[in-house]
Amino acid sequence: MLVLGLTGGIGSGKSTVSALLEAKGAVIIDADRIVRELQQPGEPVFEAMVEAFGDGIVAADGTLDRQAVADLVFGDEEKLAELNGIVHPAVGVRMAEQLAGLADTEAVVILDVPLLVEGKGRYDTAGTIVVDVDPDLAVERLVEHRGFSEADARARMARQSSREDRLAMADVVIDNSGAVADLGPQVDELWARIQAGDFAAA
Ligand code: ADP
Repeated sequence: MLVLGLTGGIGSGKSTVSALLEAKGAVIIDADRIVRELQQPGEPVFEAMVEAFGDGIVAADGTLDRQAVADLVFGDEEKLAELNGIVHPAVGVRMAEQLAGLADTEAVVILDVPLLVEGKGRYDTAGTIVVDVDPDLAVERLVEHRGFSEADARARMARQSSREDRLAMADVVIDNSGAVADLGPQVDELWARIQAGDFAAA
């Protein structure tokens, strides 16, 4: 098994790169997807969140009201820390389980973790791939393609690591300032390096 981290700011194109790597044959462990799974009604994380924050975070259909959670923790460090204290350890356990299941295989595993830089040192990887783009361009793309308001996109970005901090951690930088089609050759090159043994397997 070879484990590489993949990160990038919101709107950087991380999901797009992740899909290209998956098409190459990589196994993607997606932190955001795990969070959504753990927050399904009936899951211990969901129950713990309702216990901590009340029924106001449950939508009429019984599922988690993500916007209500976001509103609750926005600008409230204490509540955010409480939320992270519930969610992050559970995500870590689920990720570790998935990694353990792949440990004795030849899999190339991509840990797709938006907060990889913030969680520095928590993940044992053979390298870090950073998808890099000018923050203004990322905002433009989020507004144009994903229905964000500019203010929301900028507010979310402001809560993440800076472009510089991410780049400082990068072993591989994928430049997404061009067209989507320009990502393919960069992922091809990265995949060739992986196959050539450029990264040490765990
Ligand atoms: P992330 O996962 O990093 O938040 P996405 O991969 O979802 O980012 O990309 C954000 C949005 O921008 C998506 O709608 C995606 O299709 C689009 N996008 C990604 N890369 C490019 C690009 N090079 N040119 C134009 N749009 C792009």
